[in-house]
Amino acid sequence: MNQYQTVMADLKAKGIHSILTQFCDLHGVAKGKLVPLGALQEWVEYGAGFAGPSIWGTGLGRFGARSEYYGRVQIDSLRPLPFMPGVAHAVCDGYAGGQPLETCSRQLLKAQLGRLRARGMTLWVGIEPEFFLLKQNVHGQWCSADEQDQLDKPSYDLKAIYRNRDFLDDMRQTLTQLGFDLQQMDHEDARGQYEINYKFDEALAAADRFMLFKMTAHVLAERHGSVFSCMPKPFADAPGSGLHFHMSLTDADGNAVFHAPDDALLLSEHAYQFTAGLLHHADALSALCAPTVNSFKRLACSESASGTTWAPVWKTYGDNNRTCLVRSVAGRLEWRLPDPSCNVYVAIAATLAAGLDGMDHQLEAPPACHEDLYERFSAGDLMPDRLPRDLGQALGALSRNNVLKDALGSEFCAQFLALKRHEWDDYCQSVSSWEFARYAQAF
Ligand code: GLU
Ligand code: MG
Ligand code: MG
Repeated sequence: MNQYQTVMADLKAKGIHSILTQFCDLHGVAKGKLVPLGALQEWVEYGAGFAGPSIWGTGLGRFGARSEYYGRVQIDSLRPLPFMPGVAHAVCDGYAGGQPLETCSRQLLKAQLGRLRARGMTLWVGIEPEFFLLKQNVHGQWCSADEQDQLDKPSYDLKAIYRNRDFLDDMRQTLTQLGFDLQQMDHEDARGQYEINYKFDEALAAADRFMLFKMTAHVLAERHGSVFSCMPKPFADAPGSGLHFHMSLTDADGNAVFHAPDDALLLSEHAYQFTAGLLHHADALSALCAPTVNSFKRLACSESASGTTWAPVWKTYGDNNRTCLVRSVAGRLEWRLPDPSCNVYVAIAATLAAGLDGMDHQLEAPPACHEDLYERFSAGDLMPDRLPRDLGQALGALSRNNVLKDALGSEFCAQFLALKRHEWDDYCQSVSSWEFARYAQAF
């Protein structure tokens, strides 16, 4: 038996007849096709075909060879889907004309990881998904799916965990079946908000896993009558959702590159340079890690009913300091900018490119921040430089940032900037209920 026959026989024995070939669009939304298992070799070597212009960010041409691309099944990623009996999930890489597709975000991440591998290094990422369980009330307004979730400071609320135990237990069971090493689940700082943590992984595997996490959460939340929402800031007066990346690098011998036992923050020279790269490119990174109009409502210092929002605002880093953009924790870096509306492949690729730029140019990190920046802000003191205020500013910074544009490629950046500028213009032209409340009868 060749390797395809062996894999097919194994899957058939588990009752699998089809493969869900999953690709993701520029926004990080999963897209795919159901294909029969029997042609596995074709899906791996040639790929399942997609019409490029039908998917956001891959419209290379409306006709001709560049108008379609092929999602090639990554054979190691095949996993039976517990919520779709008979179907195995597979991650795909995009190819057009036999070459890696320029706008395939997974290919972009692989390219950046290749640069790292050439230096003998590996990136490990622990992704921390925060999310809301929402529903629409009888008036069509979005609210927490759990109407009894009314506490002003709901973090770690056990009563909400109890009320939502069926969803959480379904998540535990399904994620475990999918190979996740679960660590914890808790109620976060806002009503209807949760966080589920699982073990870190090599960067590409971590990104693939997050896509599978989102798919699972969408399916199971729907099964329990709610909407799994990655919207970064659903409620103005409550904390939003982040998607923090805990990052570490290892060298060819498996030694931790960022860790220095004698340093006050336990960080090495490389870690400081990597951090300096993140701070230096933070404006442009905002467009890629926090890429929606709504993302920037999270990245603001507003007091919430529960006290503080814990979202980063100022371009700083500090030892175990949750008011900073980068928090150092036991010799690794927690990157607090990303939110769950990002394309996780792009966000990791861009973050890595910025960090490598810091290392390559030996950028110097500013002094670490040892204060509570929210308190300093409330006191009216002069603040460090802040992140862009809105998507428009962030897109401007990205369009001027040659390091990130070179890393991600001109084709991807052109598509990204065009789509996101359209999103921003659309928002700027919309008239909100805030404007009616403030102006309709004011003058
Ligand atoms: N929800 C916060 C954010 O928007 C983070 C809270 C935490 O540190 O867990 O990033
Ligand atoms: Mg959290
Ligand atoms: Mg965190």
